[in-house]
Amino acid sequence: MPILKLNPMPKQFIDPYGRVLSYLRLSVTDRCNFRCYYCMPEEGVNFVDRKQLLSYEELEFLLDVFAEYGVNKVRITGGEPFVRRGLVDFLSRISQLKGLSEIAITSNGSLSFAQIDALADMGIRSINISLDSLDKKRFFEITRRDKFDEVYASIMYMIGKGFEVKLNAVIADGKNTQDILPFIELTKHHPVSVRFLEEMPFNGTGTFEVPTWNHVVIKGHILNHYPTMQRLTSEKSSTSVNYQIPGYQGTFGIIASYSRTFCGTCNRLRLSATGELRTCLYGAPALNLRDLLRSGASRDEVVRELILAVAKKEKDGFEAEAIQAQTPKKSMSFLGG
Ligand code: SF4
Repeated sequence: MPILKLNPMPKQFIDPYGRVLSYLRLSVTDRCNFRCYYCMPEEGVNFVDRKQLLSYEELEFLLDVFAEYGVNKVRITGGEPFVRRGLVDFLSRISQLKGLSEIAITSNGSLSFAQIDALADMGIRSINISLDSLDKKRFFEITRRDKFDEVYASIMYMIGKGFEVKLNAVIADGKNTQDILPFIELTKHHPVSVRFLEEMPFNGTGTFEVPTWNHVVIKGHILNHYPTMQRLTSEKSSTSVNYQIPGYQGTFGIIASYSRTFCGTCNRLRLSATGELRTCLYGAPALNLRDLLRSGASRDEVVRELILAVAKKEKDGFEAEAIQAQTPKKSMSFLGG
């Protein structure tokens, strides 16, 4: 009698809707050297004490567990990740981790050329830069920092070194709608991908107005000026709907981050710098991995808690938001974007 040999089930995080969660957005700090109005107030931000942050050793252990269960892409975010000491060494160590095929970074661009060279040397070449204006004065009004020249120089340096650079611009009425067309023109001469995002309710102030410049309005505005714009095919779980102007080197995209039109293909998990695991950006933390680790939990116990958390992942960002409607929303610098 032949023996039936069953292939072991692949170790994956699959949510109740059949979505495979293979992408972790990992915040390494809630601190930032900028004060963007859509992320945090200018004053009075209570950053967490450093002892409350996951240590690099704890982060490496957790990343190893995530990678064992099919998480093959990690995006390092913050706050501003490069304000945390030892980040480059940490990146160099995790770039050796088995199973992690892609390490990407989101930064405000205030990183040095030396750090950029170090990233290139370890093969990390995908970087998203938050840049909401190409006008120095508006940049200052939005970030409350006079750092435009440095950020722009870093961006051009990365493009020159062949990095895959994406620029994320949060578009808001009365702030930077006049930057949309100059950003499109930037893609004429540079192989860069500019993405226009809707504003999200994570500004750390507890007040928020539904964005008037949503993905439909942004697209209409661009189409008015570029009727020949062409839609591009994007990755299945991409949040960005991408386009290109014929003959332009770069591309641009629109991310409906408030309208949440892309939840059906969500493949994301989020881990805050203090260990809060979220199965949705708009949701409450499902568990705290820092506390679990520091309570002496074994690897198996960590895996079990992760699987239980994934089993409760919300259908979409609206369901997630509704579940915790009474809880004040945290700042984006804490959530990690
Ligand atoms: S809003 Fe939540 S469910 Fe939707 S794509 Fe974002 S993280 Fe995923």
